[in-house]
Amino acid sequence: MQGLMMDRPLLISSLLQHAEVTHPHSEIVSRRCEGDIHRYTMKDAAARARKVANLLQRLNINDGDRIATLAWNNYRHFELYYGVSGYGAVLHTINPRLFAEQLVYIVNHAEDRYIFVDLTFVPLLEAILPHIGNVEGFIILCDEDKMPETKLPNAQCYETLLAAESDEFEWPEFDERKGASMCYTSGTTGNPKGVLYSHRSTCLHALSSVGEEVMGLSSSSCFLPVVPMFHVNAWGTPYSACITGAKQVFPGPGMDGASLWELIEAEKPDLLLGVPTVWLMLLNHMDSIGKKLESVKNVIIGGAAAPLQMIKDFDQKHDAFVVHAWGMTEMSPIGTINAYNGIMAALPEEERYQLQRKQGRPVFGVEIKICDDDGNELPRDGKTFGRLLVRGPWIVNGYYNNDDTSSFENGWFDTGDVATIDENSYMNIVDRSKDVIKSGGEWISSIDLENAAVGHPQLAECCVIGARHPKWDERPILLAVKNPEAEVDEASVLSYLEDKIAKWWMPDAVIFVESLPHTATGKLLKVDLRKDYENYLIDHGKA
Ligand code: AMP
Repeated sequence: MQGLMMDRPLLISSLLQHAEVTHPHSEIVSRRCEGDIHRYTMKDAAARARKVANLLQRLNINDGDRIATLAWNNYRHFELYYGVSGYGAVLHTINPRLFAEQLVYIVNHAEDRYIFVDLTFVPLLEAILPHIGNVEGFIILCDEDKMPETKLPNAQCYETLLAAESDEFEWPEFDERKGASMCYTSGTTGNPKGVLYSHRSTCLHALSSVGEEVMGLSSSSCFLPVVPMFHVNAWGTPYSACITGAKQVFPGPGMDGASLWELIEAEKPDLLLGVPTVWLMLLNHMDSIGKKLESVKNVIIGGAAAPLQMIKDFDQKHDAFVVHAWGMTEMSPIGTINAYNGIMAALPEEERYQLQRKQGRPVFGVEIKICDDDGNELPRDGKTFGRLLVRGPWIVNGYYNNDDTSSFENGWFDTGDVATIDENSYMNIVDRSKDVIKSGGEWISSIDLENAAVGHPQLAECCVIGARHPKWDERPILLAVKNPEAEVDEASVLSYLEDKIAKWWMPDAVIFVESLPHTATGKLLKVDLRKDYENYLIDHGKA
């Protein structure tokens, strides 16, 4: 028997319509590329999003056409989130940190018809212009008097175009499974892959993420997303904000400690969201000026592991709780989150910090499991490592125009991460599966080894990779960058590690290097290193 309930579609425009009538006075504050602070309300944003839709109609944009953005977190980007998807086109948010050839690849692969671009990124597009000839026009996100001299053909001013449009537009209704926005992965191998989110997946993700033990957003919250709108939709927060009416504070290009503090002091957000690197800059800045983050209650940290010291610093110096979270571009992105709850409340401080290091528990809508190489599910004992697989209504089911199905396994998506899961479903990322070192059939976490080694006071950065070994298949070797003028040798590093790791995890060699390569999003790029050092142990008589 079927239920007798209405089948109203979950559309991105419905989030904005809800916000406009329920939270019309919610504030949206932005630092603009021009340097000044802009503020307006949700009602203003909704009217301008309708102008965007009218503009798309004038530009003859069809259903499903891709419209790209190359922009910071700011109110104009917010309007495009709703104007483009609400109209029925697909918003393609481009990550400006990708390398030039990756940018060319994704603009052409997505077949973007127009690119809306912040002033900062105009030179980036000019540099690749000869290779993106199919783009019909560029719309620069500024006022007429700020329009730059540019080589971009058919470059128009966003504000001038918007001023000419009506703010009346009837949002169309369509199938909630239609594509709404897309984001390309910034993987370490091969070309980036397109993830195409639907209206339904985006709305469900937003509904789930506002929950008390997820992001805990409400109409009285004020949050500062430093996580960019150009990478996985700022963790879906522009959508969650419309459900709850929380005040949004957009940092624009100002991601350094001083600029962030200036905004925090003025706007008093209670929630910050971002990757560990930005918080390192903020914490250092706060130390240097000797001030406390008075308004901040929670800091959601994801994208990379939150270091223990960072969790402690936020708690002990600023009374702010670190909510560790894990997800992926392919997961919209939220998978697990480690919010404060009864389990934590019952723990002594040191044990609570240790629990906070884990990436948390799955939110409703996401199922997780760990498996061995043959697909057998492994125990949830908090110790056994396995490949982390996920499924759920906001998890990718296939890449855009790409027949690579290697990550899809009987209705589950293989995240490429290696993790443990405990009896309360707390998940802990141990490594990336291609980085884990397989020594004599047992797995060694390169991340744990790196974290242990980098605590050495004379090392600036460490990278652990597996090198071929005739007896054990692979053994870990440690590549280390010394602090300037540090005097440190292999023996000192190995003796430092002695009481910090299992004996059989001890690296078979420590190699000092000038620098280590990174991806566009700051992750260690181990692919080339693995090739370069593959035979190191054999060639140096260490195997
Ligand atoms: P991306 O799709 O670029 O957001 O990268 C997703 C990957 O980042 C995941 O598969 C993890 O390897 C890594 N990642 C994300 N969050 C965390 C976290 N909290 N701790 C450790 N690794 C993380």
